[in-house]
Formats: sequence, structure tokens, C-alpha cells
Amino acid sequence: MRNIFNFFRDKLRLYPGSKSVLLIPVSALLVLVTLFSLPNASTDDNSVDLPQQVIEAQQTEDTEIVQETDKSDKTESAGLSESPSVIGSTADPNTATGSVLEVHFIDVGQADASLILCDGKSMLIDGGNSADSNLIYTYLKKRGVDHLDYIINTHPHEDHVGGLAGALNYASVGTAMGSITEYDSRAFSNFVSYLEKQNRSITVPKAGDTFSLGSADVVILGPIRNDENMNNNSIVLKITFGKTSFLFTGDAEREEEQDILEMEYDLKSTVLKVGHHGSETSSSYPFLREIMPEYAVISVGKKNSYGHPHESVLSRLRDADAKVLRTDMQGDIVFTSDGETVSYTVTRNADVDTLGTLSETTPISQAKPESTPTPTTTPTPSPKEDQNEDKTEISFVLNTNTKKFHLPHCASLKRMSEKNRKETGLTRDEIISQGYSPCGNCKP
Ligand SMILES: [Zn+2]
Ligand SMILES: [Zn+2]
Repeated sequence: MRNIFNFFRDKLRLYPGSKSVLLIPVSALLVLVTLFSLPNASTDDNSVDLPQQVIEAQQTEDTEIVQETDKSDKTESAGLSESPSVIGSTADPNTATGSVLEVHFIDVGQADASLILCDGKSMLIDGGNSADSNLIYTYLKKRGVDHLDYIINTHPHEDHVGGLAGALNYASVGTAMGSITEYDSRAFSNFVSYLEKQNRSITVPKAGDTFSLGSADVVILGPIRNDENMNNNSIVLKITFGKTSFLFTGDAEREEEQDILEMEYDLKSTVLKVGHHGSETSSSYPFLREIMPEYAVISVGKKNSYGHPHESVLSRLRDADAKVLRTDMQGDIVFTSDGETVSYTVTRNADVDTLGTLSETTPISQAKPESTPTPTTTPTPSPKEDQNEDKTEISFVLNTNTKKFHLPHCASLKRMSEKNRKETGLTRDEIISQGYSPCGNCKP
């Protein structure tokens, strides 16, 4: 199966540094390009799509996984992808105009699942826990994604591989990738056996491998080496679409981050899927500094037993001035890129204070004696813009985008864009009650 991946790589992209590519005669490439310029052909090299009846037959056999519960009624806001015609499109990536990239961070609780759609091509990165199989099945079905050009399991832990069975129960698959081909767990063997039903097996990509998803480019950045810690074997990849980019880190911890840093890739990304659900062992400062994400998405379960996301990670993201979005607070988070800028929708709590746990536990707030005992209930997000700013003295500067507040002299104010900047004379408590949290640099 290794050579299938190479085949894709060679066919879709010639990139410098790969000597083997140069050995392929140009004429052979031309033949391949001609053959595979037919619609749909690029997704299957060793077999065509399984007939729909076969897949449906499988579905009825495996009722324990596929029950049409349709519990994801919540995703109206993900409107763009509702149209199955987008999926069926066979637009030539090179001539497609006005194409968009959609990145769905699906709310699977304390787990990971992301669906990426571009020019009628699709890729699923992880599928949540085994218990999320129904959810993933329904998510794909609702959007008419019955073929996944790529299915990627970043690493074999259940919260990443479990729900992929549900995806395979609905969609046919072109190429399957994983960090490993064998792993002793029920969830993983389930994934493998569902792949086998489609005559597919897992390809293990190498760092530096590239492929296309419509007009988006995907590059594998990690793992660089084998680590006993499966998290540090996570497939890390970056998707570039025009001027925008998305970095997926699986559960990579700081060791893998360090390995990747040493490769000196261009890590700068518009959106970061935060590593390992916001665990403190991930998202190290040096790594974040190279990525400098505008948005950081944490896929995490409500009140999970791991204490994810860790306050230190929220603090580091806050220092990086990233806008943090969280599946536990905001449900499914769907980004759309036109190649120039990104926008996003969430299923709930668009204005919630995503750094909220920080203001409850951080030593910063404890260090300052509260003038009046503030109610310690959760910082409910109902910040109606307070217009009563008749106090003329400026006490703090707000960033209305990241929902952080700073002292007027804070160095990070220089980087804040004017449209997000708001000076206020409100007290610290009043600001916090509006959902703002203190800057990590100036510690107001
Ligand atoms: Zn893991
Ligand atoms: Zn995980």
C-alpha cells in the first residue's frame, strides 16, 4: 500500500527534493495525467467505488453502529455544506473559481473529528470515540458526503479512531492513512476491518509527503520519528488554501512539536487545531510562536476528567493573541475559507468567554483582592455592550475580538488591530463579568 500513496503523491504533485519522482519518465506521467483527469478517477487507483448496494448491505448488518438517531439537528449554522451538490462537483481544481475550503471541527466531546471539504473532495481526520460512530455517520449523511477521498487516523487512541467505523459504514474511501498499521485495541481493529470491507488498508505517510484535496494542498509534517508514546506519533498535517492555512496536530505533545520545529517547516497557520485537547503537555511556547494562529480550536469534552483544556495552555494561547474556540462550549465549529480570509460559525454560544475556566482558577485573579465578593458562578456570556462609559479615566484596554483586557501600557497592545481595541474606565470585576480575561503579559 505504500506505493499507492507514492503513486498519489507523484501523480498529484512534483515537488523538489524527492529524487524518486525525477526517475519517472515524463511520458509515463503524461499518460497518467491523461488517464486520471477523468472525474472521480483520482480517488481510486486499485478499485472503483464500491457499489452503493454493497455499502447499504453492510449498513444493515451492522446495526450496533448505525442507528439513525439523527441527533445532530443542531448544525443549521453549517449551512454551506448542506448542499450535496457541492460534494458531487467534479470541478477541475486548476480552473475552479470561487472555490471554498470548509473545515468542520465536529463536536465529539472529549475526542477529535474534523471534516475537510474542498472542490468536491473530502477528507476526514479522526472520528471521535466509538460511541460517536452514529454521530459521524449522521454528520456525513446530512451533508451527502458518501465518499471520503482521504480518511486519516492521526493515532490509534480510541478518542480518535473509534468513530471512524461509523464514517466507513456510510462513505466509501479512497486512501486511508494512519500513524500505525497494527494496534491492539477493539476500536482500532474495528477501523481496520471496516477498511478491509472496502479493500482498503492503512498507509503510513512520511513527513514531507504531500497531496492535494481539490485546490487545497496538504503536507504531512509529522511524526518525524517513532515514539513509544502514541500521542507523539500523531500525524501532523497542514492544509494550505490560498493565503489561509489550517494545522492539525492530533494529540502531539511537546516532544513531537520539538521534532517538527527542528525540521524548520513553515508552520504559520491561520487556524490551529490545538494539540491533545488542550493538555498542558502540548502547545509549547516555541511551537505556538512558529504557528502564530489567528484562531485556536480546542476539541474537548465538557467537564472532562482530564482537566482539559489546561489553564496554562489557555494562557499560552491568550499570550499568542489567538481567538480560542472550543467544542465543549460552542459545539460544532465550521470554518470557511475563500483563500483570502476565513470566517466561522458555531452551533451555540458565539460570544462565550472561551478562556472562562482561566478566570476562575488563575492565580492572577486570586492575587488581586476583590473589592466586592463577585459571585463565583460561571461567567455567563451575556455581555451586552456596556455603553455607560461616562467615567473618563481609562483603566484598561479591551480586545473585543480575543476578549482579553490589558493595562494601558501593555506591550501587546501594539499588535492589536484598531478595530478590536476599546478603552474602558470600567473596573476589573466589571470587565471580567462581561466575559473578558486578563492578559498574561501585563497581568492587569
Ligand atoms: Zn491520544
Ligand atoms: Zn485524544
